[in-house]
Amino acid sequence: MSRRPVLQIAVPSPVYRTFDYLAPAGVDPAGLCPGIRVRVPFGRTRAVGILVGCSAHSRVDRGRLRPALEVLDREPLFDESLLALLGWAADYYRHPPGEVFATALPVALRRGVPARGVPARRWRLTETGRGRDPGEPRRAPRQMRILTLLDERAEGVEEKPIRALGGDWRGALRALAARGWIDVHEEPAVAPACESAAASTAPTLSGAQHDAVQAVCGALGRFQAFLLDGVTGSGKTEVYLRIVQAALQAGRQTLVLVPEIGLTPQLVARFRRRLQAPVVVLHSGLSERERLTAWLAARSGAAPVIIGTRSAVFTPLAAPGVVIVDEEHDASFKQQEGFRYHGRDLAVLRARRLGVPIVLGSATPSLESLHNAAHGRYQRLVLPERVGNAVPPRMGVLDLRRRSMDEGLSGELLRRIGDHLREGGQVLLFLNRRGYAPTVICHECGWVAECPHCDAHMTLHLGRRRVRCHHCGAERPLPQQCPTCGGEDLRALGQGTERMEQALERHFPGVEIARIDRDSTRRKGAMESLLDGARTGRSRILIGTQMLAKGHHFPGVTLVGVLDGDQGLYGADFRAGERMAQLIVQVAGRAGRAERPGEVLVQTHHPDHPLLTALLRGGYAGFATQALDERRTAELPPYTRLALLRAEAPAPEAPLAFLEAARDRALHLGDGAVAVLGPVPAPMERRAGRYRAQLLLQSTGHAALQRLLAAWVPSLEGLKSARRVRWSVDVDPADTL
Ligand code: ADP
Ligand code: ZN
Ligand code: ZN
Repeated sequence: MSRRPVLQIAVPSPVYRTFDYLAPAGVDPAGLCPGIRVRVPFGRTRAVGILVGCSAHSRVDRGRLRPALEVLDREPLFDESLLALLGWAADYYRHPPGEVFATALPVALRRGVPARGVPARRWRLTETGRGRDPGEPRRAPRQMRILTLLDERAEGVEEKPIRALGGDWRGALRALAARGWIDVHEEPAVAPACESAAASTAPTLSGAQHDAVQAVCGALGRFQAFLLDGVTGSGKTEVYLRIVQAALQAGRQTLVLVPEIGLTPQLVARFRRRLQAPVVVLHSGLSERERLTAWLAARSGAAPVIIGTRSAVFTPLAAPGVVIVDEEHDASFKQQEGFRYHGRDLAVLRARRLGVPIVLGSATPSLESLHNAAHGRYQRLVLPERVGNAVPPRMGVLDLRRRSMDEGLSGELLRRIGDHLREGGQVLLFLNRRGYAPTVICHECGWVAECPHCDAHMTLHLGRRRVRCHHCGAERPLPQQCPTCGGEDLRALGQGTERMEQALERHFPGVEIARIDRDSTRRKGAMESLLDGARTGRSRILIGTQMLAKGHHFPGVTLVGVLDGDQGLYGADFRAGERMAQLIVQVAGRAGRAERPGEVLVQTHHPDHPLLTALLRGGYAGFATQALDERRTAELPPYTRLALLRAEAPAPEAPLAFLEAARDRALHLGDGAVAVLGPVPAPMERRAGRYRAQLLLQSTGHAALQRLLAAWVPSLEGLKSARRVRWSVDVDPADTL
C-alpha cells in the first residue's frame, strides 16, 4: 500500500523549520501545488501556512501527524521562482521559514481571506439623510462629524476616515443607519484604472541617458545587473521612465523599489503622467484592502508598473520585464527587525531567477555596489552631468576650531546665509537632530537629564516644555528645578533643529523659515504645506533632518549648510562615514540650478579628516575610493562578510552569558575560516530597560560564513542560556550598533 504523502508547511512561528501535516480529509495531496495556503491546527490554535512541498517521509511518527483543516487556494500564491527565492532567503538570513513566507504576503492573505478582490464598502447619505434638519442630531458630536464627512462626498466614504474619528464610531454609524440617514454600498474591487492625468511629453535624451537606456533595453529578456550612477538631477528618473516604456511596449511589467522616504505622491504622479498606464503602489501606509488589491493587480498582470518599498520585492508578477531599485544605497532597504532581509540584494537575486535585467540607481552608490561594478558583476552606466547645464555646487568646509559660535552657527556661515538671502537664493540647513537641544544640564552641579531606561540623554523639546528619549519614547515634563541640587539654572545643552530655528529667527527677522523634521510634520497635512512653502520659495530658510535629504527638489536653494559634519566622521558604526558622505552629497544635490550656482558648506572641527578631504576634492567617487581602501585594510564589507548575533535581557549578565556559550559553540563548529569577535556590550548597552550585547562573525567568503551559520544558528535554540534572553541573527547587518 502506498502511503499518502506528507504536506510540508511553513507556519508563521519562530521555529527554524517547516511542519508536517496530513492532507485534509477528502483532499488528494497529489493535486496540491506548492505555494498555496493551508489552514492548519497549530498548538491550541489554528494558523495559515504555506505549502512548500510534499514528502513520502516525516520526521514525526505518522500516528502523531495531524490533518490540515482546509486548503485555501487553488492556484499557488507564489510561483516556483518566488518560492525558491523565499526558501533561499530563509536559509541565507537564517530566519524561520514560516515568518519569511508571511512577510512576503499582504496581511489580508496572511489572515486567510480569499485571494481575490475584496469589495470596497462605502457609507453614503440616503435621500432622508440629505433632507434632515441640519442642526440634527443634537448632542451627538460624533454623528455630526460623520454627517459632515458624508455631506462633502457624494460618492461615499470608506470606513478608514470614519474610524479616524475615534471613540465609538461603530455605534455612531449604527445610530445613523437606524434613523435611515445613511446606508452602506459595496463596490466590487476593480483593477487599477488608468489615471486621467494629463500626459507629459518626453524630453530629448542626452547622449549619456540614451546610452544607458540602450544598454538596459538591449538586455530585456535576460538577466543583467546595471549600476546607474548619476548625480541628483542628472536624469536618472527619466532613464527609468524610458526603460519602463520599453518594457510596456513588449507587454512586460516593471517592479520599481524605492526607499521608504522616496515614495512620494510626486514620484508616482510623474510615472502616471508619462506612462498613461495603470501604476499601482505598495507601501506600509495602505489599508489591508488597498494592499491586497495592488498585489492582485500585480499578480494578474493588470498592473504593468508596481512601485513599492522594501517588501514589494516579493510581489508576484504575471509578466516580469525589468526591476529598478532607486536610491539603491538607502539604508531603509534593509529590514531592521524580524526577517532582516536586504530588499536591494534580494531584488538582484529575484531578477536573476526571473531572467530579467535590473537597474540599481543612485547619486551615491553603496560601497557594495561600487565594488560589484568594479569586479564586473554589475555594468556601470554613468550620467556625469546635471540636466540643463546646471553646474555642480562648490563644496567647502568651515573650520570651527577656536571660532565663536552662536547656537551651533559659525559667524562665517551666518554671513554666507545673509549673502545668499540678499541675492534672492534659498538656504537649506541640515542638522540630523530634532528637538531643541540634545539634553538639559544643571549649571549649578552638572546634572544632566538621562533616560531612566536607556544609556542615553533625554532630548529637550522646548516648545512642548518636555524632555523625551528618542530611543525608547519615554518622556516627562521639563523639570523646574535640578532633581539633584534643587538649583533652578537648568540650561539647554547642544543644538537641535528647534533651537536652530529660534536662533535664525533672531538673526534674520521677517524671513520665513520652514523646519522639516519628524516633530514639525506629525500633524496631518503639515508636511505638504511645509514642502509647498519650500518649493514655491515662500520659505527662504529650510531647516531639516535627514527627511530633507531625499527625494525632494527645491529649485531655488543656492546654499546648503551641513551644521554638524563631525557626526558621521566619528560615528560608532563602520558605515557612519559612508552615510555622512551620502547625506552631504544628496543634500548638495539640491543646491543650485543653471542660472544660480550652488554652494555647500560643511561645518567641522576636523577639516583635515581624510574622508572629508577626499569628498571635497574628489566628490563622491573620490570619497568612495578612499573609503573602500579603508574597508579593505580593516577587513570590513564589501571585502568581508559579517553576521551579528544580538542578545538582550533585563539583566546585564544574561546576554553576555548566552553570547559566550554561542561563541564557544561557533569556535567548536567552525573550521577557522570565520573569525568570532566578542561578545561585547552594544555601544548603547541599555535601551528601553534592556541590556544588549553582541557577537560578530567575520569571514572573507560568504560560503564559509553560510556553512557555519547553517550549523550554528539552529543549535542556539538548545542552549540553556538562550532561555533567559531575546536573541536574533543579522546577516549582512546594516549597522553593528
Ligand atoms: P534624477 O532622477 O537623476 O534626479 P530627473 O530624471 O528627475 O533626475 O531629472 C531632473 C530634471 O531634469 C527633471 O525635471 C527632468 O524632467 C529633467 N530632465 C531629465 N532628462 C532630461 C532631458 N534629457 N532633457 C530635458 N530635461 C530633462
Ligand atoms: Zn543641580
Ligand atoms: Zn530611553
